[in-house]
Amino acid sequence: MSPKLQPVRGTHDILPEEFKEFHKIIEGARDIARLYGFEEMATPIFEATEVFARSMGETSDVVSKEMFSFETKGGEGVTLRPEFTAGIVRAFISNGMQQHLPLKLFSTGPLFRYERPQKGRQRQFHQVNFEWLGDDSPQVDIDLICMAGQLLYYLSGNTKGCTLLINTLGDKESRAKYREALVKYLTPYAKELSEDSQRRLASNPLRILDSKSEQDRKIIEGAPQINQYLNDAARKRFNIVHEALSHQDSAPMFQSVKITPTLVRGLDYYTDTVFEFVAETGELGAQNTVLAGGRYDGLIEQMGGKPTPAIGFAAGVERLLLLGGEKWPVIGKKIKLMIIPFEEVNSIDVHRLATQLRITLTVLPSKMGIMLRSTVETLWQGKLGKRLEKASQRGATHALILAPEELKQNLYIVRNMQTREEQKVPIDAFKDMQKIRNIFGF
Ligand code: ATP
Ligand code: MG
Repeated sequence: MSPKLQPVRGTHDILPEEFKEFHKIIEGARDIARLYGFEEMATPIFEATEVFARSMGETSDVVSKEMFSFETKGGEGVTLRPEFTAGIVRAFISNGMQQHLPLKLFSTGPLFRYERPQKGRQRQFHQVNFEWLGDDSPQVDIDLICMAGQLLYYLSGNTKGCTLLINTLGDKESRAKYREALVKYLTPYAKELSEDSQRRLASNPLRILDSKSEQDRKIIEGAPQINQYLNDAARKRFNIVHEALSHQDSAPMFQSVKITPTLVRGLDYYTDTVFEFVAETGELGAQNTVLAGGRYDGLIEQMGGKPTPAIGFAAGVERLLLLGGEKWPVIGKKIKLMIIPFEEVNSIDVHRLATQLRITLTVLPSKMGIMLRSTVETLWQGKLGKRLEKASQRGATHALILAPEELKQNLYIVRNMQTREEQKVPIDAFKDMQKIRNIFGF
């Protein structure tokens, strides 16, 4: 009798019962993508090996040991995608998508890494992935990280959320200085470092900070930290991001925000802001990073495109499933809201409002059994008229204009983009679903 056929090590079947949960995660991520104005796209499951090797860096763990690479019958070297970003950047360049910037892109599907299988770590796994291309403002980092927090909150229905770890890798100049200092500090310890870290000392020293080896951790404790090497621009940028995130009405979004100087992420392409969401509880064990991302302003140019700033993140679907929880019911009616703050308005207040609205417009309707499919975006730069025009182009049904005079009286201006009618609405009205329904007329 022939031996029983089994799934290949590190892969598993998703049977119907599990698929229902799996599907909830993907659909939930689509809801959040829509809420923040992201559009879905897909790239091939395999690409020329160079696409990943060039972007993620030859010395990264993924490229040096985790890729499923093979030769086609025609002799082309191809690799099953280990992540989304490289393929999306390749698609952005090869399809001339430059002219449509800024772009907010959502993707989902299977990924492949040759890793040692454990709970929450497989050789074929799935991600929901978000990339925001074409805007280097720190406000974008803040908005995207809030979105990541809301995604986790929405999917797990859990008010405890996760802890947000953030760090900055600085710009090129700061990072080069830091790298030098780090190598200088580590070199005398070279023989005491783990084998992996010894290898990285020459090729990718920052990565040593990320090491999980006990012997390395002791040495790393005394290492210089990146924040001492940031130039003014990089420091200012990071402070803006950190301050706003600390001010978010964060209770449902993330339990706390921790600056984590050793958070470096594994890939070469990251610059400035990097972040991870870590589950404090649940079944995840050592695989407790559920979501991770960062800014990669140099990558598109490095891959042969025009210089284009970008930031993104991905969450592992299998790990989200281990987080557990219930998803909110699925929703149907559309409000597309564009928040337009006057320049004098405090940006922290604007983020706070955006967060509040995004929560209200998802949680309240679901509690009331109403179906709603909303988008809440923010638009920061340019004259009011130009911004209203942009809002129309992006299909906004309403603009929420934040003007200093009205704000003093606790009023927002709500503009119906179709009828051009404007009304002044008390801030408090946005906490009440019935009032929200009246304002937006549904
Ligand atoms: P880790 O430190 O756990 O190896 P990573 O830094 O390699 O994670 P990323 O490349 O940033 O992970 O991928 C983002 C997310 O994808 C991770 O936070 C995790 O949720 C998920 N993920 C990564 N690798 C795997 C895997 N082999 N199996 C299941 N999920 C994974
Ligand atoms: Mg990994």
